Amino acid sequence: MLKKNKIDLKNLTRSQLTDFVLAQELSSFRARQIFSWLYRPGITNFSQMTDLSKKLRQSLEEQVYFSSLTPAVREQSVDGTIKYGFLLDDGAMIESVLIPEKNRNTLCISTQVGCAMGCRFCLTATMGFIRNLTPAEIVNQVCAVLADVTTHEMGTINNLVYMGMGEPLANFDNLLTSLRIVMDELGLNFSERRTTVSTCGLVPRIKELGEEIRVNLAISLHAADNETRSQLMPVNRTWNLDSLLLACREYPLAKRRRIMIEYILLRDINDSESDARLLAQKLHSIRCKINLIPCNEAPDLPFRKPSQKKIDRFQEILHDAGYTVIVRSSRGSDISAACGQLAVQGREN
Ligand code: SAH
Repeated sequence: MLKKNKIDLKNLTRSQLTDFVLAQELSSFRARQIFSWLYRPGITNFSQMTDLSKKLRQSLEEQVYFSSLTPAVREQSVDGTIKYGFLLDDGAMIESVLIPEKNRNTLCISTQVGCAMGCRFCLTATMGFIRNLTPAEIVNQVCAVLADVTTHEMGTINNLVYMGMGEPLANFDNLLTSLRIVMDELGLNFSERRTTVSTCGLVPRIKELGEEIRVNLAISLHAADNETRSQLMPVNRTWNLDSLLLACREYPLAKRRRIMIEYILLRDINDSESDARLLAQKLHSIRCKINLIPCNEAPDLPFRKPSQKKIDRFQEILHDAGYTVIVRSSRGSDISAACGQLAVQGREN
């Protein structure tokens, strides 16, 4: 089978699949049927799509295909976190991380191989940018983990976060297509409340995202002043704090939803009491909750996490200023699955 010349149906939203079906002079109803088959667990070929005629199944087989991913690596942390490594067609590796909590599972997925953003504290950045993932490669991470979770009788995936390798908004079109598929009720049926896109702050894209689709937003902020932020995150030299915070204020959130502000605590860099106060001031009037992430240390990175006392004090100041603030416990660090630790090639070289 010459896969290369064929369309991968997993790259298509339901509406794009409908266009394809109509071009075949079939009824649009067929698109509904085919689309929903694609995202049912255990479906690997057209012959399983039993409500399509044999003739139609054959004709589909000749013209198109649909891809899937199977984990090449499955590592479980002592805390229950599971890291999946997926080998792509061109030999590239990507990772997804499943984080089981008391009564829910969160899946963190990747959108690029490597990353071009160059954040100083992040291991993925050390890989450099290799390529964008296709919509199918993004969606198939969810399909594969869903199958694994089912096999292991772990319930289901409750939350989906685009916080793995890569900058989602730098792969905008494919991100959007993948969101339309995972959020489609006939696709993977993740509601807008259960789906979050995280960005380091590509401001024009944040606005565009809000115009295209309703989804939760997470912002990797990490500093409350431009000088520190520009040093940590080169993206801040293009879109500074004020423009980013304005985009947050204008972002169309779903009812009762809040933007998640992510803030890595880096010892002696952004962890002082005055940093906390400035952060509280800058976030004023933004509907948000704050996630403090004590830096995950890595031998290749020149950063340390603050003392527990400093972390507590930082949290207290924000709390006293009226914010909901949690300290994200590091999960999966023993298998390099924690935030900012996903860097397949980087680690192997
Ligand atoms: N590019 C997007 C998606 C990646 S999210 C973004 O920046 O939001 C990955 C998360 O891990 C981000 O919040 C990132 O800032 C965080 N992270 C990166 N390196 C880290 C480290 N060393 N310790 C803790 N968190 C880190």
